[in-house]
Amino acid sequence: MALHMSSLFLRTLREDPADAEVPSHRLLVRAGYVRRVSPGIYAWLPLGLRVLRNVERVVREEMDAIGAQELIFPALLPREPYEATNRWTEYGDNLFRLKDRKGADYLLGPTHEELFTLTVKDLFSSYKDLPVSLYQIQTKYRDEARPRAGVLRGREFVMKDSYSFDIHEAGLEKSYQAHRDAYVRIFDRLGFDYVIVQAMSGAMGGSRSEEFLATAEVGEDTYVRCTSCEYAANVEAVRVPAPAPVPLEDAPAAHVEDTPDTPTIETLVDDLNDRFPRGDRPWTAADTLKNVVVMLVHPDGTREPLAIGVPGDREVDEKRLEAQVSPAEVAAFEAADFQAHPGLVKGYIGPGALGLEGTTGIRYLLDPRVAEGTRWVTGANEPGRHVVDLVAGRDFAADGTIEAAEVRAGDPCPACDGVLESARGIEMGHVFQLGTKYAEALDLKVLDQNGKLVTVTMGSYGVGVSRAVACVVEGNHDGAGIIWPRELAPADVHVVAAGKDEQVLAAAEQLAADLEVRGLTCIVDDRKGVSPGVKFKDSELVGVPTILVVGKGLASGVVEIKDRRTGERREVPVEGAVAEVLAEVG
Ligand code: ATP
Ligand code: MG
Ligand code: MG
Ligand code: MG
Repeated sequence: MALHMSSLFLRTLREDPADAEVPSHRLLVRAGYVRRVSPGIYAWLPLGLRVLRNVERVVREEMDAIGAQELIFPALLPREPYEATNRWTEYGDNLFRLKDRKGADYLLGPTHEELFTLTVKDLFSSYKDLPVSLYQIQTKYRDEARPRAGVLRGREFVMKDSYSFDIHEAGLEKSYQAHRDAYVRIFDRLGFDYVIVQAMSGAMGGSRSEEFLATAEVGEDTYVRCTSCEYAANVEAVRVPAPAPVPLEDAPAAHVEDTPDTPTIETLVDDLNDRFPRGDRPWTAADTLKNVVVMLVHPDGTREPLAIGVPGDREVDEKRLEAQVSPAEVAAFEAADFQAHPGLVKGYIGPGALGLEGTTGIRYLLDPRVAEGTRWVTGANEPGRHVVDLVAGRDFAADGTIEAAEVRAGDPCPACDGVLESARGIEMGHVFQLGTKYAEALDLKVLDQNGKLVTVTMGSYGVGVSRAVACVVEGNHDGAGIIWPRELAPADVHVVAAGKDEQVLAAAEQLAADLEVRGLTCIVDDRKGVSPGVKFKDSELVGVPTILVVGKGLASGVVEIKDRRTGERREVPVEGAVAEVLAEVG
């Protein structure tokens, strides 16, 4: 049955809600799709629920197509599993915690790795049971510091989360790829522009991770992309481990080489000669005095040179460096370094963040998942200085909590000779290889072919389902209102009865009924005492892709079909209208 505007639970608003900062928030409230209950907590009204269900359908179809199996977990969860993985604490203020009448601790699930892991452990015990991918479309709770922009960042929101379970790396790689491909199909169908960027793993741990960001200025994620190759990364993934610049004189004593195990200039030089031999011009201590040498010292004591630089302005640096080291040597250094160490995203020389002597120093980009205790050792650039020693976990956080220094437009691309530009986006999906982190914490093991117990390796994959509704609107609206892509629209056709005449209303009803019989869904604006002008405005605000106007033309046997997106309108004979609309809807 067609929805009728005369009885639909909908009140469109002429005015923008006072708290709405972004177009999607404004329009979804004004067009009557959602209604605020409390900050970051929204009710879905009938039209909004239809769109939300449509997004769910797209996501469900694509997840089912890769063989993932749907189930559903509760949102109300006991503390213990999250205690075992340390997330009861790690999640901090973002976690909604509560107690039951007996005083036992519960939480409202922000994401469900723990539950899926434990349930697979409950039911499966052999390699023969794997691989398996499971998913749910479920309500999540996060007490976000800044709930924002309506359903774009809610404290209660709908997420599709899936989890893959494999016995070996190759299996995980395959499951990850299958999800990644499914996400490409999902976001293509949802109808907004997006980019796939390298992402950090943050609190989750694990290895490979990518985000699907809808390109939108209102987004809260900043990413960099190369202007000449495919490289794109969330700036969170290319954080600069930058403590506040400290003049060497003022550095705390712990920063200055003093301890017996801190490499000296001599050991830096030895390592340089080992790893980057310069033939008949071996590195000498003098080089490290002219240049700044950055050395990575792993917790097990192994060292690797990370960058050689000259303090000062970047362009000047590059010139001075060229004078001392041939471009080929620099290239070899970079290639050797970056490819040999997967943890290293990019190391390069520039003005910056380490802030040796206040204004000079070295800026380098590292994968933030360096082990606690990893040290960056920097040879100072003046005679008589020793070595600066920064310890991850002591002088700055070891895992992703480092204040990000901006990666600037114009910075070199780590993957080619190009340059980076920066842009903003909305995180719509996130795929990542968790590895064995959760399986280890919760002891998920299965027997392999040889009867040996092996730890299962996992991936986790999220799509922001409710966020997608807002995101689609961000990418699909104009001054008059929303423009839904067909697949998501709350109806196929918006039939406007424009006129007081009973015949107009009867014809509108008949057309809607005929369309519905042919499988289309319709909204009929049958309101009495509402002017055609208001009805047109509302139809544009609501954003159904095809608008069928039954009005004055009816007397001469014609109705009007209007395309919401292009604004194109054409008159067709009443008798042919259903066929015309069907052809349009496709
Ligand atoms: P964000 O960086 O935007 O805070 P996240 O990285 O914390 O997101 P994930 O834990 O990766 O989010 O969750 C998977 C997906 O859930 C995200 O890609 C996003 O689409 C969606 N999502 C996360 N937080 C929210 C929220 N507060 N409101 C709506 N959707 C959200
Ligand atoms: Mg978040
Ligand atoms: Mg994120
Ligand atoms: Mg994420």
